[in-house]
Amino acid sequence: MRYSALKILKEGLTGNRGWKPVWREPEPRAEYDVVIVGAGGHGLATAHYLSKEFGVTNVAVLEKGWIGSGNVGRNTTIIRSNYMLPGNEPFYEFSLQLWEGLEQDLNYNAMVSQRGILNLYHSDPQRDAFARRGNAMRLAGADAVLLDQAGVREMCPFLDFDNARFPIKGGLWQPRGGTVRHDAVAWGYARAADSRGVDIIQNCEVTGFDIENGVCRGVETSRGRIRAKKVAVCVAGSSGRLMEKAGIRLPIESHVLQAFISEGLKPVIPGVVTFGAGHFYVNQSDKGGLVFGGDPDGYNSYAQRGGLPVVEDVCEGGMAIMPMIGRARLLRMWGGIMDMSMDGSPFIDRTPVDGLYFNGGWCYGGFKATPASGFCYAHLIAKDEPHPTAAAYRLDRFRHGAMIDEKGVGAQPNLH
Ligand SMILES: Cc1cc2nc3c(=O)[nH]c(=O)nc-3n(C[C@H](O)[C@H](O)[C@H](O)COP(=O)(O)OP(=O)(O)OC[C@H]3O[C@@H](n4cnc5c(N)ncnc54)[C@H](O)[C@@H]3O)c2cc1C
Repeated sequence: MRYSALKILKEGLTGNRGWKPVWREPEPRAEYDVVIVGAGGHGLATAHYLSKEFGVTNVAVLEKGWIGSGNVGRNTTIIRSNYMLPGNEPFYEFSLQLWEGLEQDLNYNAMVSQRGILNLYHSDPQRDAFARRGNAMRLAGADAVLLDQAGVREMCPFLDFDNARFPIKGGLWQPRGGTVRHDAVAWGYARAADSRGVDIIQNCEVTGFDIENGVCRGVETSRGRIRAKKVAVCVAGSSGRLMEKAGIRLPIESHVLQAFISEGLKPVIPGVVTFGAGHFYVNQSDKGGLVFGGDPDGYNSYAQRGGLPVVEDVCEGGMAIMPMIGRARLLRMWGGIMDMSMDGSPFIDRTPVDGLYFNGGWCYGGFKATPASGFCYAHLIAKDEPHPTAAAYRLDRFRHGAMIDEKGVGAQPNLH
C-alpha cells in the first residue's frame, strides 16, 4: 500500500477502514539466504538496502524484543555529518545524503527536519580546531559555516554569552544537520523491507550460532534453529555478549547513555545546540519538549537506565549555557546501552568465522549513521567486499595502528 495525500483524504472520508498493518508477523522459516540479528535501525536498514539495492530478498531479521525497543527508539534523534577524519567524514556525509532522500525512498514520513546543528566554541584554540574540522567537512562535500559570537547571538539569543567561566565565542554551524523522528525510521525501514518479502520476526532471541569447521551455518534462537548462508549481527549494546557466543571477543565496552525531555514549550531552540566546554546537547521536539543529554555513565552496564551523577552533570551543562532551562520541568528520562569502541568509531566487517558478519561499535552516534550503515553492511554482505565509504571500519584496525580516534582521547571508551 502506497501512502499519499490522496490516500489520507480517501480514508478520512470512508471511516479509515482501508489501512493495512505496516508489516506482517510471519513464522520463522527453516532457512534463509541471510539472517540479520537485531531489528534496530541498522538491522532494518540493512534488510531494506539488501532487498532494494542488491536484490537479496530471502532474508529474515530476528529481534529479541519488538521493533524500536532498542536504541533506535531511545536516542535524541540528532543527525549530522560534522566529522573530521578521512575514515569517518565521507561515510557520515553519505549517510546525511541518504537521510535527505529517505522519505521518498521509503514512502514514509520520518519527519526529517534539517534545522541545523550548532557546536559552540569557548576559546580561541577551540575556534581554530573547529575551523579545521569545518574545512575538512567542506573538502568532503559537506556544509559548514564558522560563526562568530554575533552570528551565534542572532541565531540563539537565549544562550548565556557572558558566563565568566564558559564565554561563548562562536560556533561551527552545519545547516544540513538536524533531527529525524527515530521510531518512524525503524517503522519505515521495516515496512519497506517487508514489502519486498523480508521476514521481520519479533520476540525471537538469538541464543547461539551454528558453527561447523569455522563456517557459520545458522543461528539458535528462542524459537528454534534457523539455517542461513550468511548471518549478519547488529545488536548495538548487546554486541559483546552475543559475539562471545561465536567465540569472538570485541574491542567494545557497554555503557548506559541517558536522555531527558522537558514539558512541551513554545518554539525556542532553532536547531540542535551543543556545549563546547562540557558535554550537553539539546534540541526541541515537534511537540515542544526540550530533548537533551550528555555523557554516558562512567562504568560498564547492560541496564537501560543510568545513575544520578550523570543527571547532575547534564543539568549543570545545560545551566551553564542556557540558564532558562532551569525553569522547565523534566517530563521523562531513560537510558540505552551503548556499544562503545576503543577509538570511538564503528565496525562494519567480516569476522574470522566464515559467513558471520559484524556491525557495531556505534557508541552514542549511531542513529545518524543508520542509512549509510545499512547500505554499507548490505554491500558487504551481498558482495563480500566493503563499501568505499566504510572501508576503514575494520575489526583488526587496532592491530595495525589504524585507529579512527575522532576525539583524540585514546582507548577510553566512555570518553568517545
Ligand atoms: C539516550 C541515547 C541518545 C542517543 N542519541 C543519539 C543521537 O542524537 N544521534 C545519534 O546519531 N545517535 C544517538 N544515539 C545512539 C544510537 O541510538 C545508536 O548508536 C543506534 O541506534 C544503534 O543502532 P540500532 O538502531 O541498530 O540499535 P538498537 O535499536 O539497539 O538495535 C539493536 C537490536 O538488537 C536487539 N537484540 C539484542 N540482542 C539480541 C539477540 N540476542 N537476538 C535478537 N535481537 C537482539 C535489541 O533488542 C535491539 O532491538 C543515542 C543513544 C541513546 C541510548
